[in-house]
Amino acid sequence: MTYFDLNLDLTDEDNAIREAAHKFAKEVMRPLSIELDRMSPEEVVAAESPLWGFLKQAYELGYHKGAFPVEVGGLGFTPIQSHILMEELFWGSTGLGAVLLLAAWPYVKILHAMDMELIEEFVVPFCQCTDASVTGSWAITEPDHGSDSLNVGEPFWSDPSIKMQLSAREEGDQWVLNGQKSAWVSCGPTATHSMVNVQIDTTMGPAGGGVCILPLDLPGISRGKALDKHGARDLPQGELFFDNVQIPKRWMFTGPEEYGEWVITNLGFGNTGVSVGALGLARAGFEETLSYAKDRVQGGKPLIEHYSIKVRIHRMFAKVEAIRAMSRAVWNVNTRAFPPLAEYAFAAKTFCTEAAVEVIDEGLQIHGANGLTKEYFIEKLWRDARSLTIADGENSVLNRQGGHILKDTFPRTSVNLIA
Ligand SMILES: Cc1cc2nc3c(=O)[nH]c(=O)nc-3n(C[C@H](O)[C@H](O)[C@H](O)COP(=O)(O)OP(=O)(O)OC[C@H]3O[C@@H](n4cnc5c(N)ncnc54)[C@H](O)[C@@H]3O)c2cc1C
Repeated sequence: MTYFDLNLDLTDEDNAIREAAHKFAKEVMRPLSIELDRMSPEEVVAAESPLWGFLKQAYELGYHKGAFPVEVGGLGFTPIQSHILMEELFWGSTGLGAVLLLAAWPYVKILHAMDMELIEEFVVPFCQCTDASVTGSWAITEPDHGSDSLNVGEPFWSDPSIKMQLSAREEGDQWVLNGQKSAWVSCGPTATHSMVNVQIDTTMGPAGGGVCILPLDLPGISRGKALDKHGARDLPQGELFFDNVQIPKRWMFTGPEEYGEWVITNLGFGNTGVSVGALGLARAGFEETLSYAKDRVQGGKPLIEHYSIKVRIHRMFAKVEAIRAMSRAVWNVNTRAFPPLAEYAFAAKTFCTEAAVEVIDEGLQIHGANGLTKEYFIEKLWRDARSLTIADGENSVLNRQGGHILKDTFPRTSVNLIA
């Protein structure tokens, strides 16, 4: 099923991108996500897993680099085109969509850092890659520091008594990393590279951080076993361990001076992306439920013929359209702005994920007891949806930060567009 787009100015090219992405999401991603959902975490990340075939196909189509500029080998999609692409991929599967988004994440951030040497070293090979042999991840959270690692501006952010679990110390012309990251690192078990947040200056507490990019096959790096979760089981997650891992100085592209700003900027872009994940998922749940309501007969007629079901279905529809409107508006600005408008990104992430959870929950309710069984797709969507309000920052932590930003910026009068 495709949807009617309220943007009447879409070009033939925009529509062609949607059609192709929808076909891939429907024929490859959705069936695979159902298959992976039923496998063990170890099977999902094993060498013979069908996950790798999906990644190769996606890379061949260029879906890992849609929004990257043509100058570095990307497809140069417009903001609307990349939003359309991501909505369709997330419609196919939020987990597999996240695998693709995370694959690109370190390289997006290197582009933002505008370090030409690192762009040549890391971004260009990623964009040139057509066989998924270069994939990324982002490791910031730690077993004892989830929200702590994102809570910029809280009094404890600069508390030296808070010791992070991954530190980096300077040794000659290298950084040496010791410690670990949490079991929630998306693609931790599968990625070839990671963008890793480390504590550099312990006298500054969590604020004394730095960010580096590194390949995950360096001596001293090991990985935990893939996490067993109730939802998003097609998104592999797991710990990363660092034992005297040496990296050249140039790979540490952010230091303590700009660290807090970096975390907010990164969340601003990441949260904008998660809002699209919520959109794809919510739309999938709405479509699934409408279709079910047309088939299921109660009271002598299909559910959809009953007054109250029409009301409930239309409310789901309204939420999906509201999610798209907000997500696309914020994406349209934040993919062109530096720094992104973080208060809008946090608003989009929290609003869209919570609305998506409501849509999916109502969808399951309309399925009745059938919705609780694995025979019906809504059961998987319900499990997948739940993680969205926690991923990339727990929602109330993000709202707190959004309020903190509004305190100083409202009403905002300008945005710094870079493209
Ligand atoms: C699907 C998914 C994908 C993820 N991907 C990644 C990834 O790629 N890389 C990565 O590094 N991490 C990843 N994470 C981890 C994610 O960022 C954290 O789960 C999230 O930031 C919350 O941290 P936590 O789970 O440790 O919860 P906690 O920080 O322990 O929070 C628990 C509760 O306490 C509240 N709380 C916490 N601190 C405060 C405070 N100071 N004041 C008041 N209330 C507070 C929170 O609001 C929350 O409700 C992912 C998580 C999920 C679910």
